[in-house]
Amino acid sequence: MNSFNADIEQACARHIFGTYSRFPVAFVRGEGCRLWDDKGKEYLDFLSGIAVCGLGHCHPEVSRAIERGARNLIHVSNLFYTYPQVELAQELTRLSFADKVFFCNSGAEANEAAIKLARKHSSDLYGPGRFHVISMKNSFHGRTMATLSATGQSKVHKGFEPLVEGFVHVDFNSIAAVEAAITDKTCAVLVEPVQGEGGLNFASPDYFRDLKALCRENNLLLIFDEIQSGLGRTGSLFAYEHEAMSPDIMTLAKGLANGLPMGAMLATDEVAEAFTPGSHATTFGGGPLVASAALATLKVVSEPGFLEKVRATGAYLVSRLRELEYRFPFVNHVRGRGLMVGMELDMPGGKFVSKCLEKGAIINCTHDKVLRFVPPLIAGRPEVDRMVAILEEAFKEEAL
Ligand SMILES: *Cc1c(COP(=O)(O)O)cnc(C)c1O
Repeated sequence: MNSFNADIEQACARHIFGTYSRFPVAFVRGEGCRLWDDKGKEYLDFLSGIAVCGLGHCHPEVSRAIERGARNLIHVSNLFYTYPQVELAQELTRLSFADKVFFCNSGAEANEAAIKLARKHSSDLYGPGRFHVISMKNSFHGRTMATLSATGQSKVHKGFEPLVEGFVHVDFNSIAAVEAAITDKTCAVLVEPVQGEGGLNFASPDYFRDLKALCRENNLLLIFDEIQSGLGRTGSLFAYEHEAMSPDIMTLAKGLANGLPMGAMLATDEVAEAFTPGSHATTFGGGPLVASAALATLKVVSEPGFLEKVRATGAYLVSRLRELEYRFPFVNHVRGRGLMVGMELDMPGGKFVSKCLEKGAIINCTHDKVLRFVPPLIAGRPEVDRMVAILEEAFKEEAL
């Protein structure tokens, strides 16, 4: 770490907005579950660029699609048809509850589109004034004005008030809380099937089924933010598949194009009808280059056996982390589904993230005390064993 090149740190501080606090490492190359810094040091990546590079770094199929796409056609706008975009929409709808897709460029944009669609759908059906969206405490939905207003964490609101009107935050995993918040102004409920940034929080088994029923009774749309949980992360292609129900609208982004920026908002035909020419748009959305990368990604993730292996590796990771839970008293709780796994400590987790990084493994910490493990979905037992060995060393130093 002490060999870190101070020049890049200074140039970054001088010329880039100070919106991120960064670790003192500059990465120059990646392959599979491994990254290399500018000193040639190798790292095991259990963060995947925050649950983005599901197929690992520079997956040959995805890189080939990008190379081909870059030589063929990069951008023409949505005034015209392009084949990769339409093919990708066909695949995403074939593989999900949805009938139609709107493509954009990030998670926040996908949620922004979902919020607009819910408002428009309600306005078309029930007239104006019915625009409130119920979302959850400790949720995370993005950093644009509407999505940060939807986010149930006051730290992302501070200094940006007034917030966008019409967002109500209730306790996650409580049907009664949602019920109590519904008024004649409510049009939708927005929820992550697994709270990622909020500390890897899972709901109880019947919660989402009951939530869907409650939404039906009250003519509310149910929006699933699957930006982090989607595309195989939890061991099924979409996290809603674990819940014996499906939402009306779903948003995707992080894992969609394995590292190229792409978001998508999906809905049933009945709901999608509310958007007509001119309702919503984005210049770059669904361009042929990113769409080709997403198609290549989706092809690999939906290959037979791929998700079974994610489930098996995830179960193995959880069981190995539980061994540490029993041995180290400051570990409170290990929870996970597929390769979306959290380890809650009874102290801030930042120092363990730094220790792991020094020892050559990348994880992060969310909600102050929860170590987050979201490795590439292609990780296997050897990677899990190495990650757990490094974490164990870091824990032992703490216990000394
Ligand atoms: C990352 C994330 C977002 C925001 O996505 P951006 O691409 O950073 O705008 C929204 N919702 C969830 C659940 C996320 O994990």
